[in-house]
Amino acid sequence: MDAHQIRNSYLAYLKDRGHVIIPRAKLVPQGDRSTLFTGSGMQALLPYLLGEEHPAGVRLADSQPCVRAQDIDDVGDNRHTTFFEMLGNWSLGDYFKEEQIRQFFGFLVDVVGLDPNKLYVTAYIGDESRGIPRDEEAAHIWQTVFHERGIEAEIVAMGSQADGDARGVNPGERIFYYDGGENWWSRGGSLEGTPIGDPCGPDSEVFYDFGPEHHDPSFGKAHPASDSGQFMEIGNEVFMQYHRLEDGSFEELTRRNVDFGGGLERIAAAAIDSPDVFRISLMWPIVAKLQELTGRSYEDETVAMRIIADHLRGATFLAVDGVRPSNKEQGYVMRRLLRRAIRQALALGLSENFFGEIVPVIADLYQDDYPEVAESRDEVIAVLVKEETSFRRTLEAGLEMVAEYAGTTMTGRDVFRLSDTNGFPKELTLEEAGRLGIAVDPEWESEFEAALEEQRARSRGATTLGAAGLPGGASA
Ligand code: ATP
Ligand code: MG
Ligand code: MG
Ligand code: MG
Repeated sequence: MDAHQIRNSYLAYLKDRGHVIIPRAKLVPQGDRSTLFTGSGMQALLPYLLGEEHPAGVRLADSQPCVRAQDIDDVGDNRHTTFFEMLGNWSLGDYFKEEQIRQFFGFLVDVVGLDPNKLYVTAYIGDESRGIPRDEEAAHIWQTVFHERGIEAEIVAMGSQADGDARGVNPGERIFYYDGGENWWSRGGSLEGTPIGDPCGPDSEVFYDFGPEHHDPSFGKAHPASDSGQFMEIGNEVFMQYHRLEDGSFEELTRRNVDFGGGLERIAAAAIDSPDVFRISLMWPIVAKLQELTGRSYEDETVAMRIIADHLRGATFLAVDGVRPSNKEQGYVMRRLLRRAIRQALALGLSENFFGEIVPVIADLYQDDYPEVAESRDEVIAVLVKEETSFRRTLEAGLEMVAEYAGTTMTGRDVFRLSDTNGFPKELTLEEAGRLGIAVDPEWESEFEAALEEQRARSRGATTLGAAGLPGGASA
């Protein structure tokens, strides 16, 4: 199955199981200013998970395009992209662990066709001091599900990720208890940070094993929660079964929810047994086009091509959802994606505009499943190409200016000058300085901020003078 088939089969499978397929949320959350982007399927469902009634019922599913700008520095590895699709399903006070675990396992094994011997799972180890038992219920359901397929599935207490790095996995072991750092979900992000009154609970993550040849021993021993390359997280089942009381203890909820989120690209990678998500059907045509345009191979230019492919895919979807490059908020992130893509392309020898070649490839990949991509196609291409043209001018001048600092140490004021006077973004200055081996003062950031503040004060002064009616005043 390719990625497109996996997405559509998932939705059909959930529909067969009584779920209503709900429309995706926009990448820019509507009526919620607390985050810039929709970063999970759950985000748009939060009011309903917290108790509101959903008009479509108690069993819901979708495929949610997500942007995680916070993952930008991981882009270049085999599995993180700033843009991805999250397959999601929810039970709002309806089914719970047994049905969820069987449902996802059945999807992976019977629909997608993954080898169940390559699946590994985690469950929550519990916290006695807070009266939360270990999630034996989830662990035992998983064990039964594996045993039914004749697969050994010993349950092991790992503890933290560091414990896993030291211990590794022995043959026959398949289900692992980890602590709250890995397997507790709350809006606050941690057990201690769980807001009072909020639903929260243990989660169970599912990993695909690409085999020991992909393990990087510098991470310690291979185990599911490790970032060593052998295992990849493909899905996460959150079981909201507690709420936090005033005294800090936790109580069972009467209405329990399931929130499931699975990475489409990662499941698709598992389906072709490739630990590299860029090899899947929704990504590879972008990389192939880059190879064609640059005459270079993905094997030699893996990181640069991953960054370009991811960033242009993300920026394209942002444009489809109405975001335009600008100097603040979503528009700034979009601009940064585009500029980083251009910067990487330059290193591959692409010094002419090339968005006009790549964006249509991306649009082709999505427009059948997302009609809004087809509708806005020409406009999106125009927006991105315009940004590319204007940034290329800035870029060439900026790179030359950074190179002039060779043999010196760049200060925060230097970084500021480049960004303020020449519009050359500070991130690129740092990247380019790093690339050329030019030292940057470790305190650059505070000096940069101070220069920015001074400049703001100056422009405030300028407006005051202007308002005082001194013609021509300080407006320059
Ligand atoms: P990871 O530990 O790999 O960063 P996560 O625990 O942050 O993943 P969740 O918040 O649990 O991810 O999101 C649910 C699923 O979405 C994950 O199991 C994974 O399959 C997918 N996913 C998360 N982040 C990314 C990303 N940056 N790129 C691609 N897929 C992702
Ligand atoms: Mg993450
Ligand atoms: Mg994770
Ligand atoms: Mg997770």
